Amino acid sequence: MSEHDAAVIVVGGGHAGVEAALAAARLGAETVLVTGDPARVATLACNPSIGGSAKGQLVREIDALGGEMARTIDATSLHARFLNESKGPSVRALRALADKPAYVRASAAALAAQPGLTIVTGMADDLIVAGGAVRGIRLDDGRVLRAPNVVLATGTFLGGKTFRGDEVRAEGRFGEPPAVGLSGTLRRLGFPVARLKTGTPPRIDRATVDYGAMDEQRPSVSPLTFSFDSAPEFAGPQRSCWVVCTNDETHRIVRENLHRSPLYGLDLIRGIGPRYCPSIEDKVVKFAHNPTHQIFIEPEGWDEATLYVGGFSTSLPAEVQLAMLRTLPGLGDVRMMRAGYAVEYDFVTPTELDGSLETRRVAGLFHCGQLNGTSGYEEAAAQGLVAGINAARRAAGREPLRLGRETSYIGVLIDDLVTRGVDEPYRMLTSRAEHRVVLRHDNADLRLTPVGRDLGLVDDRRWASFVARRDALDAAGASARRAKVGGTTIGTAVMPPGSTVADVLRRPDVTFGDVAAALPNVEPRIGERLEIEIKMAGYVDRQRTAIARAAVDEAVRIPEGFDYYGIRALSLEARDKLSRIRPRTLGAAGRVPGITPADLAVLSVMLHRRAAPELAVQA
Ligand SMILES: Cc1cc2nc3c(=O)[nH]c(=O)nc-3n(C[C@H](O)[C@H](O)[C@H](O)COP(=O)(O)OP(=O)(O)OC[C@H]3O[C@@H](n4cnc5c(N)ncnc54)[C@H](O)[C@@H]3O)c2cc1C
Repeated sequence: MSEHDAAVIVVGGGHAGVEAALAAARLGAETVLVTGDPARVATLACNPSIGGSAKGQLVREIDALGGEMARTIDATSLHARFLNESKGPSVRALRALADKPAYVRASAAALAAQPGLTIVTGMADDLIVAGGAVRGIRLDDGRVLRAPNVVLATGTFLGGKTFRGDEVRAEGRFGEPPAVGLSGTLRRLGFPVARLKTGTPPRIDRATVDYGAMDEQRPSVSPLTFSFDSAPEFAGPQRSCWVVCTNDETHRIVRENLHRSPLYGLDLIRGIGPRYCPSIEDKVVKFAHNPTHQIFIEPEGWDEATLYVGGFSTSLPAEVQLAMLRTLPGLGDVRMMRAGYAVEYDFVTPTELDGSLETRRVAGLFHCGQLNGTSGYEEAAAQGLVAGINAARRAAGREPLRLGRETSYIGVLIDDLVTRGVDEPYRMLTSRAEHRVVLRHDNADLRLTPVGRDLGLVDDRRWASFVARRDALDAAGASARRAKVGGTTIGTAVMPPGSTVADVLRRPDVTFGDVAAALPNVEPRIGERLEIEIKMAGYVDRQRTAIARAAVDEAVRIPEGFDYYGIRALSLEARDKLSRIRPRTLGAAGRVPGITPADLAVLSVMLHRRAAPELAVQA
């Protein structure tokens, strides 16, 4: 037996791997994190931001369950702002820019401080599998590590290739070697492996920019934090971002150099790129009717010399990138510090996974992060947390955690991956969550901290602070329903006789600040949450009815190994797809693409007949 034998091995120290390793160790599983370079854990390989629309909700949910990402960004944030403030609480989301080196250092410190977690430097090259179950990994230097649970969190590194003009390199990320052996292993084991692509923009020297020619975007004047437990204070000096627009000249240079693009003229990249984060080449070609595109110039750290050029991802040759940059307002004399590039990599079709993120093909093997075809730090971290939790639970002989779509964006993300699969990099969007009125940024702790506590991830201190918050919110609600404000003037309107604070807060034009004097014992943070709860109550009630309806089909379990081919009344397409994806419930079967209401009705009758033959015959 090797000295590194463990209950759980996590391969890859990116955003997914860090959460997975911490969660597994926190749940008491002896854990080993194997990663190429421990000095680069949780690297923000592209944009410096965490959160934003729908992704911000994921970060809050990770925090509520007892994960790490929210605390790391709070400790390193240099610019935070709420997005979609005017669009209502269900889509409101926090976004913050990190000091990139500080973010990596904070993640490394969290790993180093975690009891029960050992970090091993190295590249996993092969999986050891016997009897349909994983037994460990083999590193490229020949070392063997044995464990009955292995979490793969290898990001963009499997078969990674980077592209800039006609330069093609075998790399998982710029300057870092790819993981080659593992792709072959996964294929050999029968996993469907395909290619995706993403890209990053150039970085520029902040001393060579004329800020007067750009629009400034200031951060919030009061500190904003993701974690329910972070003190509301600034992590360090706050920095502005800057906005500029592309112009005819920028687009002309792109068009005239398309023959030098690995995506277009050179036709070197086959993998599909992220729809919601297209390269500047794609923007100019596919959205040719748009005369201009917004570009965001963002700091990468308190002391970093570089600025990130958001929205300008490109794999054109470096000299073309510089020429394009110099067409932008304020960048006429800019110095390019690092050119952008594209990366193409292998991913494994996530319909191979159960909702616990364990593969069905190999027991004890979990996949998470970009390996599952997602894009983004937050999506990776959310999956890493669930995979780490479930690897540790499996090690302890416990039932896995499976989060439903009605509980969380994390539940939506995983259900989408395992029932629908991906054919382009998957990014979380609010529109993917049918229950988004319930899955708000403000209430992630109410939804998930009790789950995290049951799992054992929320310690006594965090639990006590949650209970105090929940009690304060309940008490504030009771006070708001009691306190009368009839006859007083709020804004320009006189309140009708008998009105309570709760009645008044229902009005869209009234904020907690307007009624705070009537609730002297309610602190502003709780008051703001109360206001959202009261304003959303009607929508939430309607959504709860929809959730209850959906729960009926979610409660109908489909037995493991169910023989769809034996049901002749199902369409052939349905039989094929359901046999491949093997949904766990009737509800999940209905979400498999291509399954019609008629297929579902047939399946429902068959499942009910199995469960209670006499009832189904009458039906
Ligand atoms: C060039 C580029 C551009 C990107 N652009 C965007 C974007 O525009 N928008 C967006 O949302 N996301 C973008 N991303 C993606 C974002 O970086 C990822 O979504 C996120 O980092 C994925 O996290 P992860 O944990 O799955 O993997 P990663 O962060 O990639 O981490 C993988 C880790 O695994 C380690 N590793 C890999 N293989 C092995 C092995 N065999 N053995 C040991 N260790 C291994 C690596 O060293 C690394 O530490 C981009 C990434 C790159 C590289």
